[in-house]
Amino acid sequence: MKDTKKCPHCGQWSHWNQNPEDRCEHCRNPLDPITLNRQQAKYDLQQQEKQRFSLDLIRINPDDSWFIRFTKKVGLGFQLIFVAIITFFIWFIAFVAA
Ligand SMILES: [Zn+2]
Repeated sequence: MKDTKKCPHCGQWSHWNQNPEDRCEHCRNPLDPITLNRQQAKYDLQQQEKQRFSLDLIRINPDDSWFIRFTKKVGLGFQLIFVAIITFFIWFIAFVAA
């Protein structure tokens, strides 16, 4: 779908595809800087959330005894389930907030 939008920087009309990342044909500035900033802010927030919940996964050494290896594998399993739930949760929040 072809559409036009007035550039907020130079006042010229440019083609745009309803995409906030589209740039002015005349001055190369974003045609929709408000939405672009909002998207960027949302993206930054998501990255922060991911970092907050990211945790170091348990490392299994070949030198560990069978009991330690078993305990670590169980712990690792729980960690992976936890990460999966958090990832889904972040995705869900982003989806609902969109
Ligand atoms: Zn422009």
